[in-house]
Amino acid sequence: MLTFLLTQTADKITPRPSGEIPMNKPTKTQSSPHPRGTKATEPLLPRKDWPQLYMDSVIWDAHACLPLLPNYDCSALERHRAAGATYVSVNVGMDFNPLSQCIRVIAGFRDWIKRHPDHYVLADTLADIHRAKKEGKLAIGFDLEGSVMLDDDLAMLGLYRDLGVRQMHLAYNRDNQIAGGCFGKNQGLTKLGRQVVQEINRVGIIMDCSHSAKQTSLDVMEVSTKPVVFSHSNAKALCDHPRNIDDEQIKAVGRTGGIVAITGIGPFLGADIATDTIIRHVDYMVERIGVAHVGIGIDYSFDQDHSDLPAGEDPALWWPKVKGAEFNFSTLRFVSPERLPDIAAGLLKHGYKDADVIAIMGGNFMRVAEVCWK
Ligand SMILES: [Zn+2]
Repeated sequence: MLTFLLTQTADKITPRPSGEIPMNKPTKTQSSPHPRGTKATEPLLPRKDWPQLYMDSVIWDAHACLPLLPNYDCSALERHRAAGATYVSVNVGMDFNPLSQCIRVIAGFRDWIKRHPDHYVLADTLADIHRAKKEGKLAIGFDLEGSVMLDDDLAMLGLYRDLGVRQMHLAYNRDNQIAGGCFGKNQGLTKLGRQVVQEINRVGIIMDCSHSAKQTSLDVMEVSTKPVVFSHSNAKALCDHPRNIDDEQIKAVGRTGGIVAITGIGPFLGADIATDTIIRHVDYMVERIGVAHVGIGIDYSFDQDHSDLPAGEDPALWWPKVKGAEFNFSTLRFVSPERLPDIAAGLLKHGYKDADVIAIMGGNFMRVAEVCWK
């Protein structure tokens, strides 16, 4: 998740009054005819132009972000469903969000999904995803970005898994007591971190390395007995940014049987967010580790006016300025879910075979989930 922290100031964040307990009833936002983030930001390719294989396949978006608010109206997810997505992994917490907030966000998201069974389903098994595809529903899993919300307790991993967390990485940009973040001091996994990876393997969560320090990612891939993914990271050779990954990391993740999922965040793509640019990053990964190890994790943030950073926290602590890759968050561009059919069409146009496109758009993640989720 990007969270657009640099456009946000702490005083723009409106904390809930202390002691307020979210109620399971429609909120003001939920009763609004146009909840925030529900409006498409770019035109959807006409359905008649969608490749048939896109309509027939499982389409997997490995990362998306709703505001981390209890009882949030998740209607914006309709944009994924309308764009033909079958599964989306929705963030439920980063390292700056405390355990209590993560649990309440999960509670609210789960409640919303269960209240809208005609269009959405919580993904517990691969069968749920296949069923969602057949019934035109969107299957949803959750992901965590960091490990502070574990509270150093390995048993929390099983709980999060049972609550719907199906993918997680261990450090969000900064180093912590478990792992190193990509803006930290290239810290590796700590002793506890190694145990966390083993427990993630055991309980059935996909091990993710986006936002991690290079050394942590290499350590994770050495310790993990299951395939590892980068759920939203691009090629550093094409776009030199600390959030992107180099050839050593790319080849290592391929060796685990895992996936690099290309993200649609402008500063991680490079000059622009055109579909051709996304495909250049796909090509780069495919040339190094093969079609079977590439996916899509566009990391769309549905409410760009909202910050999940706690009041008073300095955004620069989490998103330091990057020399040579500075960008203005207020003019930041990113790929929206409406682009998913266009990406599939673009891959075909660029010479990928039908089977390759099916694999990149979701088949590879289904394979990894089958091994990792148990
Ligand atoms: Zn992220």
